Amino acid sequence: MSFQESQNLTTVINARGTFTPLGVSRSSRVVCEAVTEALSNYFIIHELQDIASKKISKLANSESAAVTHCTASGITVSIAAAMTGMSQERIESLPNTEGMADCVIIPSSHCVNYGHSILQAIRISGALPVIAGNKNSCSLEDIEQQIVRSNTCCLLLVSSKLVGCEDLDFSAAVKLAHKYGIPAIIDGAAQDFRIKELIQTEADLVLISAQKYLAAPTAGLVVGKKQLVDAVKAQEKGIGRGMKATKEALIGVLAAVQERESLNLEEWKKSQQIKIDYFVENSSSLNGICASEEVDITGLPFSRVNLKIDSSITRVNAKEIADKLSSGKPAIWVIEQKSGIGELGFELVQTTKLELDIILKRLAELTT
Ligand SMILES: *Cc1c(COP(=O)(O)O)cnc(C)c1O
Repeated sequence: MSFQESQNLTTVINARGTFTPLGVSRSSRVVCEAVTEALSNYFIIHELQDIASKKISKLANSESAAVTHCTASGITVSIAAAMTGMSQERIESLPNTEGMADCVIIPSSHCVNYGHSILQAIRISGALPVIAGNKNSCSLEDIEQQIVRSNTCCLLLVSSKLVGCEDLDFSAAVKLAHKYGIPAIIDGAAQDFRIKELIQTEADLVLISAQKYLAAPTAGLVVGKKQLVDAVKAQEKGIGRGMKATKEALIGVLAAVQERESLNLEEWKKSQQIKIDYFVENSSSLNGICASEEVDITGLPFSRVNLKIDSSITRVNAKEIADKLSSGKPAIWVIEQKSGIGELGFELVQTTKLELDIILKRLAELTT
């Protein structure tokens, strides 16, 4: 009997991706064992932070790194760091920002909602979000106008599929921030595979969720320039107290980073592609379903599967199929972003072959 069954909990098949309400990801046995070991031992926490900093910096090719509770808290403490620097007096007075530059410039289409609005993650620090451009476009001029107009402490950019197709050049935006002597922070929560690329934009900080594709316990990686990373760490004696990394998170991150370093990416991509091909081939044969492979718009090294549902043939529409999948046993969760236009998405990175067969069987039952 599985843990879920014995506790009367829902058994889930996750084809939705690194989704927080489903527990995000599955950790490897090596990571789980490291965490188990951590929980029954004492450590000097700053020693763990120091090793984590070295290992993560190597993975990212960055000057320095720190671990926070998650990316949402990473956003808050990074902005706090941009306002306070190493001033203990300022650190203790937040979220009161009196006497500090406290405006955070964020492009309009980057105002994402990953469970709450990123604007709230900014405001928790005491800072004020200042939106540049509009939903459809944000140019460098739009950003510059807001930087000049406001009492600006930093520029915040988001690299995520939530942002959609945005042609803002990150390197140019970072350069612009630096022209005005303010740091640029990139929320790249699900972009751990692209961490080096994001660091290459010269951003002062890049924020990554360790529990997403890295499959560590929940933690936020704050990666970038040493001076600002130090100021992030210093927030633990201020508003960052409730946002600190636990020992099990730190140890789990170390194990997950080690695994990523030894990952053969080409082999990994091949094993992902086998699942995609299998799912596309088998779902295409279902009546009223047209399956296709969709590459990740941010440049992550894997594809997803998109199913176009012709409800005149299936007699159920995309939304109804998604609802039936998630309320069945096991509960199958899929990407519903485009269900309004008759499409469902499937992210297969964390799924097993056995789970794919269960999903295909359920789709067949629901569409005939
Ligand atoms: C997941 C996500 C977050 C939040 O990350 P947590 O580690 O869960 O706090 C923030 N921003 C983006 C773009 C995300 O995808």
